[in-house]
Amino acid sequence: MSSNELIHHSVSLCQSTAEGSTRQDFSVEELLAARKNSWRDWLCSAGTENLHISPDGEAYAATCRVGGVYGNVFQGRLELPTQWIRCTKTWCMCGADMQLRKARIKAFQVRSTEPLPERKTEIAEPDWVSPTQEEAHRRFPKTVTWDLSRRCNYSCSYCHPSVSNHTDAHWTREKIWTAVDVIESRFCRGVASKWVFTGGEPTLNPSFMEVVDRLAAAGHLLHVQSNGSLGPDYFARLAKKACIGLSLHLESLNRERFLQTVEAMLATGSPYWMGVRIMVPPGRSGEAVEMRDKLLRLPSARERLNINMSPLYQRLNQDQLQEYSKSELELILQFA
Ligand code: SF4
Ligand code: SF4
Repeated sequence: MSSNELIHHSVSLCQSTAEGSTRQDFSVEELLAARKNSWRDWLCSAGTENLHISPDGEAYAATCRVGGVYGNVFQGRLELPTQWIRCTKTWCMCGADMQLRKARIKAFQVRSTEPLPERKTEIAEPDWVSPTQEEAHRRFPKTVTWDLSRRCNYSCSYCHPSVSNHTDAHWTREKIWTAVDVIESRFCRGVASKWVFTGGEPTLNPSFMEVVDRLAAAGHLLHVQSNGSLGPDYFARLAKKACIGLSLHLESLNRERFLQTVEAMLATGSPYWMGVRIMVPPGRSGEAVEMRDKLLRLPSARERLNINMSPLYQRLNQDQLQEYSKSELELILQFA
């Protein structure tokens, strides 16, 4: 299998030309590396098709926070925009935000049911942006991304202090139900939606599996972004109900246990998406490649597991890449 077959293309840049519409597909890492992630003054579906909940329960249209706070879900308050908002940011930095539908002007605000252009070419000046997985988007046109807590059991040296700590209390079961109720009634409005849980480490909340069970029973699609530290048994159970994206932190994890966890997930035969993103600090690409090779040797990994690598950004300046040699950055981006 070539590295290209493992790249997860998730963002389609589309253009209307005299010969008809055309598109080019990217992974978020490729968009970042090529600096093609700027949609300032465009119209964006953040807030109508996407909701981002902070660890404190504040509701934003997206990770970028364009448009400000729309309520607090733990207090049962949520008032959302009814139309696409205008982007005020120079760079769209978060992978989830990049995948939201966007249009340069209203004329390119295509319906969510409209198929992507079939023709693929290099795009110079895109007119609209759509998620590449159009079938999945059609089935689940709305996404809730929820940073359930800052609480994490790791201390990765590149993690921004606002993202994780070892001390935040877990939200109680009752508070979480208040939040789920208001999100379902004010945002989902009866539409089966995609719920993405991240943190901190979301699986540390004692009620988390119960939340997953309730949302899955309601027909929602779940995606859990995790460091995988709760181990094989927990993730084998979770893999049967949710898509799982594990972040592989070379400086924090127990490598054998991580491999066992992924092996247990794969062994479930679950139809849900599974992926591993290897976070590569400068000077450690050799270890990253070694872990990638070990992951690929797990049974069914080549068919079922999406693996990519990410370069790291500076801890206190998340717009600035850490310092890599040219060859190391090229190697990482080859697997991005
Ligand atoms: S930064 Fe990205 S997600 Fe936020 S409004 Fe702009 S284009 Fe939309
Ligand atoms: S596992 Fe993730 S949230 Fe936790 S410290 Fe590392 S980067 Fe931060």
